[in-house]
Amino acid sequence: MAAAVAEVIERGGTVVAEAGTGTGKTLAYLIPAILSGQRVLVSTGTKNLQEQIFFKDIPALRDALGKPFSATLMKGRSNYLCLHRFGIANDNNSFDSFERSERAVFLPVIEEWSKKTKTGDRAELSDLPEDLPLWKEVSADAETCLGTECPRYGDCFVTLMRQRAAESDVVIVNHHLLCADAQLRKSAYGEVIPTCPTLVVDEAHQLESVATEYFGIAMSNFRIEDLVRDVEAGVGRDFTSRQNDEMRLATTRVTERSRTFFSALSMARMEAAESKARYTSETFVDYFEDGAMLAGALEGLEATLVLSSKKDEPDEANRRLAPRAGSALRSHAHGRAHLRDPCG
Ligand code: SF4
Repeated sequence: MAAAVAEVIERGGTVVAEAGTGTGKTLAYLIPAILSGQRVLVSTGTKNLQEQIFFKDIPALRDALGKPFSATLMKGRSNYLCLHRFGIANDNNSFDSFERSERAVFLPVIEEWSKKTKTGDRAELSDLPEDLPLWKEVSADAETCLGTECPRYGDCFVTLMRQRAAESDVVIVNHHLLCADAQLRKSAYGEVIPTCPTLVVDEAHQLESVATEYFGIAMSNFRIEDLVRDVEAGVGRDFTSRQNDEMRLATTRVTERSRTFFSALSMARMEAAESKARYTSETFVDYFEDGAMLAGALEGLEATLVLSSKKDEPDEANRRLAPRAGSALRSHAHGRAHLRDPCG
């Protein structure tokens, strides 16, 4: 495996390797990656493996290889203390709204730790409960981050982590951060992972479900009902009676096709459950036609909304949902998409 990885790093391409637990897969990709001298990005399925690589395998390789190299462990923003939010919450006494016991026990711990930590990674506070509400108030968050405008930007833990990673030979992330970053890259703003010529996906069997979470589109009968309700709420307000009639016709068609499709899908699921069969695209193959009809009805509704918008701008959310819903169903109809939980 190490020889195959070394060859792919040198010549380019992809290698897929599978081996049992404890057989040394991590070393088999880390050694050729480090010896190549190129920056390598390693993504794991779990934080545990991320930490094992960083705290155990990397130091062991530093001793064994006799070649100096640097490594950075990167986690999602919410793992890091936001110095700006923490300062503001302290100044505004925002912690008063939290339970007394939570404030009394954890606030002094975070306060003390914030003065000496070099990483700001909450993993250093092993006694902090995973779902502590107070942490959500003070952790870094993409939505509230001020970026370069922030007065603490210079000593911000997320900034420091990014800088360390940009200068490191080995960058270790997890699949969640990898996918979140790839999503941000699509909008060319806010990515945290530095560009690396080599990517190693460890625990690759977990990547599909994480990627589906970030890039998939979930469809359900409830979402379609919401869409129809929102459109109908707008009918009759600012449109001509001919537009209203067209829209009612389009929403009725969507409702009927949605009922047909989702009840057929429910039946298919029940039958699959009874026969204890595994769901595959084949399980639902008889219903792709119904899916295509629903996609057509959604496109019809979209076209009606777009035409009406020439006169009056319809609800923006509806305009965006209709084409997304249409294309999601079309993918299912062609059997290309991963059908995860079709009835939501
Ligand atoms: S730059 Fe963003 S994450 Fe960093 S301290 Fe400022 S607001 Fe918090």
